[in-house]
Amino acid sequence: MIKSIKTFDLKEKRVLVRVDFNVPIENDKVVDDFRIRAALPTIQFCLNAGANVILMSHLGRPKGEIVPEMSLIPVGESLADLLEMPIKFSADCVSEDAHDVSLGLYSGEVHLLENLRFYVAEMQNDPDFSTKLAKHGQVYINDAFGTAHRSHASNVGVTRNFTHKGMGFLIEKELQYLSSAVKNPRRPLTVILGGAKIDTKLDLIHNFIGKADHILIGGGMAFTFLQAQGKDVGNSLVDPARLNTAKKVMARARGKSKLVFPKDIVCAESMKNRHSTGVYNAGKIPDKLMGLDIGPESINRFSQIIRESGTILWNGPMGVFEVNGFHKGTLAVAQDMAEVTGSGTTTIIGGGDSAAAVNKFGLMKKVTHVSTGGGASLELLSGNTLPAIYSLEI
Ligand code: AMP
Repeated sequence: MIKSIKTFDLKEKRVLVRVDFNVPIENDKVVDDFRIRAALPTIQFCLNAGANVILMSHLGRPKGEIVPEMSLIPVGESLADLLEMPIKFSADCVSEDAHDVSLGLYSGEVHLLENLRFYVAEMQNDPDFSTKLAKHGQVYINDAFGTAHRSHASNVGVTRNFTHKGMGFLIEKELQYLSSAVKNPRRPLTVILGGAKIDTKLDLIHNFIGKADHILIGGGMAFTFLQAQGKDVGNSLVDPARLNTAKKVMARARGKSKLVFPKDIVCAESMKNRHSTGVYNAGKIPDKLMGLDIGPESINRFSQIIRESGTILWNGPMGVFEVNGFHKGTLAVAQDMAEVTGSGTTTIIGGGDSAAAVNKFGLMKKVTHVSTGGGASLELLSGNTLPAIYSLEI
């Protein structure tokens, strides 16, 4: 059993919370505070319960070095603004000074620790390091979904030091939508997949064959399937090592889940020379061209299925949405999902680039759930156990 934060008596307790404050920073300012906001319900709950809160997070990949650009100081400033109160900050997450600050906290105070990954011991899940981290708190709460697929000191090792441990509201919400909602979906259940890398999504497809009514495949990964069907995909992205697997997936899905591929594709000469050369039949892309977005006929077909769905799970853009002119397929899926959410469909965005796309199009608040974790959501949706969540079991 994993305890929810709601079940703890936190009054006057030091609560050590692993959060995911891995946010983009430019010129010492947080430019997107989505992940900080996502942790607020847990932090506010602790404060309202009369706890004192110690927050720890990683930021970027400093690889065990102290990299000033990856300091959590700008995050602390943004957090203090959001909480509308001053917070304490320690420039080292495991120093004696930092421990003293945690031990001296009063109820309702917040102490943010410097970037965990300034120590290589964090990623090595070093037991001495996790014991030092554990010294900060009496209760441990993990709310960092974005790193839950990693076994690090702050989310796995540290849990061995606590009898009082559990999950925060963000992890609880992620599990509710990425696990429960897709296990017992309101039908029909549609899974929409895209993006460039087919290999990271094959386990997910396998997991949903027989569970999903429709699996729509767009983006660069569609071309490996189209080529495996004997179609001409020109110079489009194909993973030759996965052609056989793609064939097997299509054979396995027969009669269990309907796989739907794009019928038409917007092409360009290359990624570098990316002026659209027009829309082509997905099976007859000229040799020298490469497919960079799904075409209008595919958009209509995908839209029709989205409108008939009870639950939709989306992971991966339909095209190179970052480039104007090849964003239309991804925009259409995002808009359709936002629209059907209004009429009662559960719409879930599985993190990573599709979350970035929905954010770019300003539709974040119009879908049911946007996951904060790319890799973690893919692992969970592939049916795998996340080590950091498993470690919270009591
Ligand atoms: P992934 O990390 O596998 O989800 O891939 C996301 C990336 O896939 C985005 O940056 C898109 O620009 C890219 N992408 C989507 N469609 C295509 C395509 N048809 N060809 C090449 N890259 C694509």
